[in-house]
Amino acid sequence: MKKLAVIGAGWAGLACAIEATRLGHAVTLFEAAPMPGGRARRVDNIHGMALDNGQHILIGAYTATLKLMREVGVDADTALQRLPLSLRFADGGGLKLPRLPAPLDLLAGIFTARGWTWRDKSSLLRTAIGWRLSDFRCASTTSVAELCASLTPRVMQELIEPLCVSALNTPVGQSSGEVFLRVLKDALFSGSGGADLLLPRVDLGALFPDAAIEWLTKNGAALRIGTRVRAIAPDGAQWRVDDETFEQVVLACAPWDAARLVRASGLSADHWCETTEALRFEAIATVYVRNASPLAEPMLALRSNPATAPAQFAFDRGQLGGPQGVLALVISANEASRETLEQQVIAQAAAQLGQAGLQLIQTVVEKRATFACTPALARPPAFIAPGLLASGDYTEGPYPATLEGAVLSGLAVANALKTP
Ligand SMILES: Cc1cc2nc3c(=O)[nH]c(=O)nc-3n(C[C@H](O)[C@H](O)[C@H](O)COP(=O)(O)OP(=O)(O)OC[C@H]3O[C@@H](n4cnc5c(N)ncnc54)[C@H](O)[C@@H]3O)c2cc1C
Repeated sequence: MKKLAVIGAGWAGLACAIEATRLGHAVTLFEAAPMPGGRARRVDNIHGMALDNGQHILIGAYTATLKLMREVGVDADTALQRLPLSLRFADGGGLKLPRLPAPLDLLAGIFTARGWTWRDKSSLLRTAIGWRLSDFRCASTTSVAELCASLTPRVMQELIEPLCVSALNTPVGQSSGEVFLRVLKDALFSGSGGADLLLPRVDLGALFPDAAIEWLTKNGAALRIGTRVRAIAPDGAQWRVDDETFEQVVLACAPWDAARLVRASGLSADHWCETTEALRFEAIATVYVRNASPLAEPMLALRSNPATAPAQFAFDRGQLGGPQGVLALVISANEASRETLEQQVIAQAAAQLGQAGLQLIQTVVEKRATFACTPALARPPAFIAPGLLASGDYTEGPYPATLEGAVLSGLAVANALKTP
């Protein structure tokens, strides 16, 4: 048993703290914010509504996250609405997979895609077969745009661009083809239901962090929510975290916070810090509006254009267990000002969704929502120094910045503590 400090109660830190507690370690979990959840958290009391810091989507292939949610007592079947993968636009165009075993669902989805010509469909079929034959591998330097060069403009606009921006939060020209193929493989070709969209029907706190904290409290972990760790420093074979001593420390804070703590510790870990500091980030803005009439589906794709119509997706929160008439309009990887985005997406919703008279409730802009998932990106490893590990969506791993990436990293780091 080790005395362990986990710094950060995002989904990675919570997963790590739970797994380490299960393995018998004495865990103290520090979180700077007044609530757990990090970049996937409830933002309380926006005009009396529990809204989130940003609309999130899970997919059926998030097996580690779904398992952990269930283990801490969340009923994932009611907390999430499961829908077959759909990238339908309000005008009815686009692709929707029927409920069939994989990969028949994809084949049927391609054949029935609305508004696609035979050329569109055959270009996607040929390309997808090529990816399958190469076991979803490509050179690490390949971008998604290069990977998809043989696809028609319609397939790019109605399938690849929305998928890439929602999974990697990075535009196709700058996204890693290798990571994109990995996501496609796990979602579409690794068993039925992997590509299903799982849309939260509860706020993000109730989806996992609240239950995780309750589980940790019941199982004897010490919780310091609302406590920002100011400094860590080696202390013989141990580590000081502010005024306390621990045998092991897991930095489960975001990369910029982790690098700052490591630099200030006086440790010689330049390579780890440089790799972490070299990461670049992409924003996600969620514009919440009210006075909406119900959408045809809980989630619709929008025809987006970074300069004039920036939102990629619209979510009907009323159909997802939230207040009636509230929409979440999601804008990925766009640096325009909050005011510009608000004006543009309200006009976009009027034009594409026929929603006149929408009123702004709140816009949440997360400037560093995810790391930019670019080709051949060097990500820092979990190991920093003896007794000091990093956990988070950004550490070395197969996935882009996602909840599943964060949870997998937390579980892996807790298990790595077993080795002395
Ligand atoms: C708007 C938005 C939309 C997204 N959409 C999706 C989606 O649809 N699907 C998906 O899978 N992923 C999505 N993501 C990504 C996902 O939210 C992240 O990958 C994940 O939450 C990262 O978790 P983490 O634990 O690695 O880091 P974080 O969530 O950043 O957790 C780090 C924690 O450390 C704390 N901390 C920092 N410094 C200290 C300190 N000194 N002392 C104590 N605590 C500290 C922070 O307060 C924070 O709580 C989205 C992200 C955003 C922002």
